[in-house]
Amino acid sequence: MKRLIVTVAIIVGISFLVPQFAGASGGGAHWGYSGHAGPDNWGNLSPEYSDCRKGTQQSPIDISTSVNNDMHPIETFYKSTPLKVLNNGHAIQVNYNPGSYMMIGSHKYKLLQFHFHSPSENKVKGKAFDMEMHLVHKADNGEIAVLAVFLKKGEKNATLQKIWDSMPLKAGKTKSSGGSINVTDLLSSTESYWHFTGSFTTPPCTENVVWSILQNPISVSDAQVKKFLSVIGEDARPVQPVNTRTIYGN
Ligand SMILES: [Zn+2]
Repeated sequence: MKRLIVTVAIIVGISFLVPQFAGASGGGAHWGYSGHAGPDNWGNLSPEYSDCRKGTQQSPIDISTSVNNDMHPIETFYKSTPLKVLNNGHAIQVNYNPGSYMMIGSHKYKLLQFHFHSPSENKVKGKAFDMEMHLVHKADNGEIAVLAVFLKKGEKNATLQKIWDSMPLKAGKTKSSGGSINVTDLLSSTESYWHFTGSFTTPPCTENVVWSILQNPISVSDAQVKKFLSVIGEDARPVQPVNTRTIYGN
């Protein structure tokens, strides 16, 4: 039942995950993480999803090697936002009120939402982490930037628990505790990160997404991972070929 995806969830999910498609008529074709609707077949489900099959800069990837580079500093300017937790049928997501942004060098990206995957989608030297958080941003010129943070099993994460306590059990539902959250409290150091060009990890797999992945994971408890999996199930796209891309790190 947890994999049952209602149309509302798909429309809501795609609208939020892929802001440039928000408002597109009819939503998208049904997709998921197993069977006919699973990742290996996403590119065949709809002409709109062809990048999932034909793209050459797809995400996620395995970071097996990186080129040492002087990286632009990442600076985050995130405010607190009302805690409304959305179960979009594919992930657990918190939409962010306008006014929060990050700077990568001189480039400004406005924070739209953050959401979670389990296990992690990107890997490091062939290994997945227990979870991965994606902070989705958009620049004024339309460019999308994702700031990703790995979660590794250890201590219970108190900030994460605030979200988990409001996690809707049903797809398409939003739940609010009345409190607020600042996603800054879920970041590790922004000084060390990997940087590369990729795509959305969900249909329509749109490319030219600027990826930055923090090298240090944050903590999540075994019970917190189990809770997520019991509600959403595994929601990680398999790693895609790196092809000619360069992964920079510091
Ligand atoms: Zn994601």
